[in-house]
Amino acid sequence: MQTITTVAELRHTLEKCRRADQLVGFVPTMGYLHDGHLALIAASQAKCDVTVVSIFVNPTQFGRNEDLSSYPRDFLRDQELCRGQGVAILFAPGAHEVYPSYFETFVEPGDLAKPLCGAFRPGHFRGVATVVCKLFNMVQPDVAFFGQKDFQQCAVVRRMAIDLNLPIEIVTVPTVREQDGLAMSSRNRYLSEEERHQALAISRGLAAALNEFCSGERRVEKLIAVAKKHLETVDTLQYLELVDGDTLKTADSPLRRPAALCAAAYVGSTRLIDNVILTLPTR
Ligand code: AMP
Repeated sequence: MQTITTVAELRHTLEKCRRADQLVGFVPTMGYLHDGHLALIAASQAKCDVTVVSIFVNPTQFGRNEDLSSYPRDFLRDQELCRGQGVAILFAPGAHEVYPSYFETFVEPGDLAKPLCGAFRPGHFRGVATVVCKLFNMVQPDVAFFGQKDFQQCAVVRRMAIDLNLPIEIVTVPTVREQDGLAMSSRNRYLSEEERHQALAISRGLAAALNEFCSGERRVEKLIAVAKKHLETVDTLQYLELVDGDTLKTADSPLRRPAALCAAAYVGSTRLIDNVILTLPTR
């Protein structure tokens, strides 16, 4: 595995792969890797000849009062994990390599970035779309892999790839969970033992609603109510919304189209997100 920190070296190395007609897969991350990230890497390894993983804690997607400076980091461990997965290139640029002085050009997503997390994290998806677009231009992958855990991020990135004619296939990988159901997240490490237990309410609430849906319940209010009962124990429920799977607008009741039940909640001072996809059975 090659660890690369500059765009020039990355381009030079990938040039050889392209000349050899190798399919390049890309997994962008903010590091502190867990099994969720490793599932994206495995998906890339299965589909592509070469996998590039990036580790970059992107300052432009953090709000003023968010956890940019305390975001968990363990580069050496991440490097070992990537090596163990057979990653070809680990791209870990510094902040100045990605955002040179006088940087002032951003990618501004549209309506998909407005609800859910977008409503509580102003500018977050502008930062995400900008850095993903920049990383796409640096790596120029054939396929890029994103986790369903960040459902709205997947929607924004897919839209951006279409709108900006980026010749990249976007693959969404299902959410990887701890044995008890908690969605894996780098931020889980902030949780105390008690908070870790409290956080389970999120996945349990979403799973309960999914269960109702699978038993035939199609009323939006009812599905939300089922989830909400569990979520009453979190410190602050930021949102719990059932949205259309494509537009991310509030889903019509009864459900007739694929939808997503999405939640964001604070457990102590840690903000966690999760979702389940409600897909109607095909007849
Ligand atoms: P992050 O490092 O949190 O920015 O995440 C990098 C990528 O990993 C994103 O595409 C996330 O959606 C994905 N990811 C994070 N957690 C999980 C998980 N539990 N299961 C699947 N993918 C995940």
